[in-house]
Amino acid sequence: MQYNILMNKRIETHTVKVGNVLIGSNHPIRVQSMTNTNTSDVKKTVDQILELHDAGSEIVRITVNDQDSAKSVEDIKNKLIQNNCNVPIVGDFHFNGHLLLSSYPGAAAALDKYRINPGNIGGKSKYDDNFEKIINIAIKNNKPVRIGANWGSLNKDTMDELLKQKDNDKRDISYSLLIKNALVKSVIDSAVQAISLGLPEDKIIISCKTSNVNDLVDVYTDLSNKCKYPLHLGLTEAGLGRDAVISSVAALSILINQGIGDTIRVSLTPDKASSRTEEVKVCQQVLSSLGIRNYTPRVISCPGCGRTSNNYFVELSKSIKGYINEKMPVWKKSHPGVENMNIAVMGCIVNGPGESKHANIGISLPGNNEDPSAPVYIDGKKYKTLQGHDIEEQFIDILQSYIEETYK
Ligand code: SF4
Repeated sequence: MQYNILMNKRIETHTVKVGNVLIGSNHPIRVQSMTNTNTSDVKKTVDQILELHDAGSEIVRITVNDQDSAKSVEDIKNKLIQNNCNVPIVGDFHFNGHLLLSSYPGAAAALDKYRINPGNIGGKSKYDDNFEKIINIAIKNNKPVRIGANWGSLNKDTMDELLKQKDNDKRDISYSLLIKNALVKSVIDSAVQAISLGLPEDKIIISCKTSNVNDLVDVYTDLSNKCKYPLHLGLTEAGLGRDAVISSVAALSILINQGIGDTIRVSLTPDKASSRTEEVKVCQQVLSSLGIRNYTPRVISCPGCGRTSNNYFVELSKSIKGYINEKMPVWKKSHPGVENMNIAVMGCIVNGPGESKHANIGISLPGNNEDPSAPVYIDGKKYKTLQGHDIEEQFIDILQSYIEETYK
């Protein structure tokens, strides 16, 4: 896996070790995901973690919300190890994290990170005690903690304090700004409190999630100016299908392009037709579209238009993509670097040869009224012109030979 070191505008943070994965500073932006199984169902949870990890998730979070789920954590971790899967597992705690982590020391030891939400730790009278219990367990087990606020569960005391300040302030502060300030204040205050209890600063990751793109950008920009903790990015409650994907991609791209963000997750409302791994693929595509990390060869294809003589170039693009997906598990090991390859499949002479020359390998299919032939370009030079009814097979042979010779 290549990490584009040209991302040197990445905002400097501490490095935090989560299991065997380093997050922050110049380490690659990590893709993570979350299961949606009942954690007490060990088999289903293990299967989904394996599926997410196989898809490229470098960290997987599981809900730990009751005694049964806490009891299952060690079993889940052991079964993953038996399957040669050492992906770090994060426990997601709300309301009763202090109780579950205290009552189930095996779970506290097996998890690689604890995620806590300052808004769901306890009210004024209980917050300090509960928070201290969790932090002490993290210190004892040498585990990092993500302090993750969410604007759907803002700490009431922080909010009350800011509302009081707003009443006393002559300036006209909008409610939205107040919420954003409250989110940032809540995580920074919690991090300071954790450090004062003895948690090292390189054991803290921060997140502040909102469901609105512009608010998310504001909050994370503010956070990146105020602290050096690695930032976990993600739009929360992003919604369904294409809406969620587009909003998440917009938010992540703006922030990552400004050098903000050390680990990312895309939250997609489950859809029966799609796999949970979809959220991993969206994260990977964001990073690869921004030229930060490549996971698989990129197939560049034109949208087609009135010049396209038929649908063949669309079918060819799909076949090439399918061929790559099928071969990638093997190529990853046998041909390192292949993930950085670009392949162009174009529909006519207008942009076809030009785009093909920019790619490692490109093919330009004939459009309307063009000669029935398809020039192939390799590393910017015309290599051959394909003709006949087996252009797909000929092109795949060329592609396979190029990969074998180039990525040894
Ligand atoms: S390359 Fe040709 S077929 Fe494809 S969109 Fe451009 S003009 Fe249309």
